[in-house]
Amino acid sequence: MPRAIVIGGGLAGMAAALALHESGFEIEIFEARNRPGGRAGSIRVEGVPEWIDAGQHILLGCCRNLLDFYRRLGVRHLIRFHDEYVFVEPGGRRWVLATGGSGPARLAAFLRLGSLGLRDKLAILRAMAVVRHELARREDLDAVSMGAWLASHRQTPRALARFWRPLMVSALNEEPERVSAWHALQALWLIFLASPGGARLGVPTVPLGEIYSEERWRAFPNIAFRLGTRVERVLTEGCRIAGIQARGAIHRADAYVLATPVEQARALVPRLDLPKLEMSPIVAVHLWFERPVMDLPQAALLDRTVQWAFNKHEGRYVQLVVSAARRPASLSNEAAVGLALRELGEFFPLARTVRLERALLVKQMRATFSPVPGLRTRRPANRTTLANLFLAGDWTDTGWPATMEGAVRSGYLAAEAATCAANIPARFLIPDPAP
Ligand SMILES: Cc1cc2nc3c(=O)[nH]c(=O)nc-3n(C[C@H](O)[C@H](O)[C@H](O)COP(=O)(O)OP(=O)(O)OC[C@H]3O[C@@H](n4cnc5c(N)ncnc54)[C@H](O)[C@@H]3O)c2cc1C
Repeated sequence: MPRAIVIGGGLAGMAAALALHESGFEIEIFEARNRPGGRAGSIRVEGVPEWIDAGQHILLGCCRNLLDFYRRLGVRHLIRFHDEYVFVEPGGRRWVLATGGSGPARLAAFLRLGSLGLRDKLAILRAMAVVRHELARREDLDAVSMGAWLASHRQTPRALARFWRPLMVSALNEEPERVSAWHALQALWLIFLASPGGARLGVPTVPLGEIYSEERWRAFPNIAFRLGTRVERVLTEGCRIAGIQARGAIHRADAYVLATPVEQARALVPRLDLPKLEMSPIVAVHLWFERPVMDLPQAALLDRTVQWAFNKHEGRYVQLVVSAARRPASLSNEAAVGLALRELGEFFPLARTVRLERALLVKQMRATFSPVPGLRTRRPANRTTLANLFLAGDWTDTGWPATMEGAVRSGYLAAEAATCAANIPARFLIPDPAP
């Protein structure tokens, strides 16, 4: 039985391990933290009885490989899909956008959306109408920012403020001016145009850590987690990896998948010359109230700093999310919590009067890489110049931005490359529909 070592137990490493398991490998996953999941994991907070997600994670219907990974792991039922988005204005006015149904039904739902005027909607539809064509034909899209692309497609100020910016920031964790038009158009294509259901909003019904708890992995006896075990060194010998060192001991395998974030990968194997990526922060503000303050499962918040509110428990525990959060990340914790609480009160007035029992701010300064213009061709492939080393991680060349789907795709691609090198080639990646 061929043996593989996976370094990093985030989604990329876990997806690589599951795929390799299917090809008959015996796998050890070395993970520095005490739990699997990486950035898409849960944390314990003193005084809070349950695990909480440091940052709320959502997925969309177009995340084909992530859903496939959940199916393989037997946890697909833990994701609840919602067929509508609720947009809330300051003051509390609500607008619902249904995402289900045929193309004409979705178009009609969009035309009914009251948070935008007719001119805004027509401008958006005009831009949407050229997405497929430009994606398929234009060679220079990755050199252009989405901000410039939108300007050249004459978008209205309200369409920019209430549609394009929230969409880019939520899907790509970056401002339109800093996003490559290629990445943005690819996201538009997959979410809205490529297939029905691409925009459906998937929300885990349990903390992320429960989705891939150690218990779930017991169903896969050939996958062993070495939790709390940081890989200290990767040993090379000529054009191969000879082993890894963790807790002073050397471990060897036939294939190695390096699935850490890019900066750790660069430090572990300097000769790969991996790119330096610009990173973008995400701030999550967790608020626990004495009584319920929120009556929706989740809401997209318009015209303010906070972009999303998630009802985590009976409307009493609310998580607020700010993506591309450079400004709130620069505030003191107290000021950032104050800002979030004030804004929540503008959308859900009960938050102004119900007593706040506890607040927790989680700032992740290196949450995801920024999909800036010019990055597309700099992302490394899953094969490397070392014959038995394969790269995984949301930062590798997956065609996707830094997302759970991107991470799973990278794991599958690394596993495909490893099975090929072992002469037992297998396919795991579910390709996206071409434009
Ligand atoms: C706050 C926040 C919110 C997000 N929201 C969303 C969302 O809503 N939807 C979405 O799709 N994506 C979201 N993302 C992005 C998503 O979490 C990531 O793209 C994805 O989880 C990356 O997975 P990964 O396996 O590539 O990397 P990671 O999850 O970073 O995993 C790498 C692992 O390697 C381990 N490691 C590092 N060095 C070593 C070492 N030397 N030895 C052993 N182990 C090591 C780390 O501990 C880590 O567990 C969010 C990210 C953040 C931070």
